[in-house]
Amino acid sequence: RKKCIRISTGSKQLDACLNGGFQTMSISEVYGEFRCGKTQLAHTMAVIAQLPKASLANSHSREMGGAEGKVAYIDTEGTFRPERIMEIAERFGVDPDQACENIAYARAQNSEMQTELLEALASNFATNEYRLLIIDSVMALYRTDYSGRGELSERQQVLGSFLRRATQMAEEFNLAVLMTNQVMSDPGASALFAGADGRKPAGGHILAHASTTRLLLRKGRGEERVAKIVDSPDCPEREATYIITTGGIND
Ligand code: ADP
Ligand code: MG
Repeated sequence: RKKCIRISTGSKQLDACLNGGFQTMSISEVYGEFRCGKTQLAHTMAVIAQLPKASLANSHSREMGGAEGKVAYIDTEGTFRPERIMEIAERFGVDPDQACENIAYARAQNSEMQTELLEALASNFATNEYRLLIIDSVMALYRTDYSGRGELSERQQVLGSFLRRATQMAEEFNLAVLMTNQVMSDPGASALFAGADGRKPAGGHILAHASTTRLLLRKGRGEERVAKIVDSPDCPEREATYIITTGGIND
């Protein structure tokens, strides 16, 4: 039986809220407004996943919280920056070029390609020790490709099979799947799902059910940002603050 691993977010406070970080064998979803740090978190975790695992022996080391694995990164918005990976690698004392080499990067231009890229990664996962799959951002292309009102049910069907495949892969290959997601601003759509705070992730019930852990990010005071756990099988609803630095997400 495969053992579930937790991968650190780069923020000790946020890790504490998540019992150590995002876990393998399931989908974690991070959603929030533009510029709240979703892509920066994705970059940070793409480096941390490569680091040594946490253990009692090195629990005071800066290098805990990794998964000693490679990373797959599906980019739907063209916001991946190798230079950021290199800067974050330096924070953790790993070779910047090596850190980039351990990330299998692919840019998806449309939702069909997003599915194809996921399928193509299966052979990577089967032959190498991958521990993290990032999809930044999961709904962006579906929202463009199925923008008409009449297309919503078709979109949800296609999205459902994408998410089922991602869940399968998470379990089969012991992967943490980190999906970033947008919040809905369309007034018609938000009326359908509007929560108390008016911030609802795109993707509706299909995505809500697929995500084991959901995290809402927002801007706080000054440079501070706030992460709120809104759905988790083993953590209470809590908030943590974090900042974005040259070295990635930090306390
Ligand atoms: P999202 O994906 O949620 O839209 P991002 O992850 O792209 O947001 O975060 C954007 C924020 O990250 C901006 O506020 C920007 O100032 C900050 N940021 C990006 N790079 C750095 C860096 N090297 N040092 C500090 N902050 C940075
Ligand atoms: Mg982004």
